[in-house]
Amino acid sequence: MYYLNLFKMPKAVVTKITSLQSRFFWGKSDGTKGMSIVSWSLIQKPKSQGGLGVRDLVLKNAALLFKWWWRFDKEECPLWKRVVCSCNKLDSKKGLEKQQMKNTRSLWNTIGNLRFSEAELFSIFYEGMQLQLGDGTRTLFWNNVWMKDGRLRDRFPNLYRVAVDKACTISDCSFWDGYVWRWGLQWRRALWLWEEQELSELQTGLTKVGIRQSEVDKLIWKHDKEGNFSVKSFLNVLYKNKNLGQEPNMFNFYNNLWRSLVPPRVEIFVWFVILERVNTKDKLVRCGILPTSEITCVICGKAPESVHHLFFTCEYAWKLWGSALRFWNILWVWAGDPRQCFESWIHGANRKGEKEDWMTTFFCCNLVSVET
Ligand SMILES: [Zn+2]
Repeated sequence: MYYLNLFKMPKAVVTKITSLQSRFFWGKSDGTKGMSIVSWSLIQKPKSQGGLGVRDLVLKNAALLFKWWWRFDKEECPLWKRVVCSCNKLDSKKGLEKQQMKNTRSLWNTIGNLRFSEAELFSIFYEGMQLQLGDGTRTLFWNNVWMKDGRLRDRFPNLYRVAVDKACTISDCSFWDGYVWRWGLQWRRALWLWEEQELSELQTGLTKVGIRQSEVDKLIWKHDKEGNFSVKSFLNVLYKNKNLGQEPNMFNFYNNLWRSLVPPRVEIFVWFVILERVNTKDKLVRCGILPTSEITCVICGKAPESVHHLFFTCEYAWKLWGSALRFWNILWVWAGDPRQCFESWIHGANRKGEKEDWMTTFFCCNLVSVET
């Protein structure tokens, strides 16, 4: 982790570690590669977003390196920053994005050039950094993100084009008139009609801005309640932005799935059941591994063996569920696919003290179904 905190991991190392992780999940006991049953991107997605939470090393590495960007902008001038600025000929008062890395052999060259090498991640990171307005002396009116919906130069490109001072701070283009804060934006020429419309929209937004003379402008991370950057929150934002293709993008059941009520391997197994990614016979027939004639349930032999059948509606599985429900004295009907079954089960017991036992019953019945 120390290495990832300072250096960009070579692609060969990433490939090797990912291969070892994949082998751990899908490898057979004889060491050969087995069949993967969910996509690797879903394995890497955070549990809070429906995945298994095995972190993507490339994203984790990038998030750790971007933390230096945050610290460089946020921390005034601690010793480490003075040393870095001195060795790399950087200006400690300017953000890294405005500076050229002159020392190409320095590890800060890699960190500073992340804005080019990881341009997509950088734009997400940069968009998350927001200036909380104080007296307006450190916030660039057009170029910093200090209002909702991004930079003003992007939201009002026509006005930006004719602005006299494109690099002005907020305090440069506004002033106190007695107790009233007024804006004094200047244009290179008279505005056209469509520019006037943009100006009207801009002025409406500016009326909601509050200037606090007693405070300086403060950098905040908008994805955290306290405004502090953390690798975890940045990774969550990155995963939300990552396209997971056709994989199921899950909702709120994860809170009840990953509660440590049962051992992790049981939780993971039930996660596969809910996703319907267990190698039941219907799937093996679809893959051409089994002939169609062998699709019937291995337990009852009366219906095609799907995840829903094997774990919920097979007469033997149902006997198991029935005995559990008799214990709880509850009448129950399964509806929909395994995911909907789990969702409906979540709401089955609401009394305090009962909910955990009720949820554990679900895990146990799934496990015993497959052991049968
Ligand atoms: Zn059956």
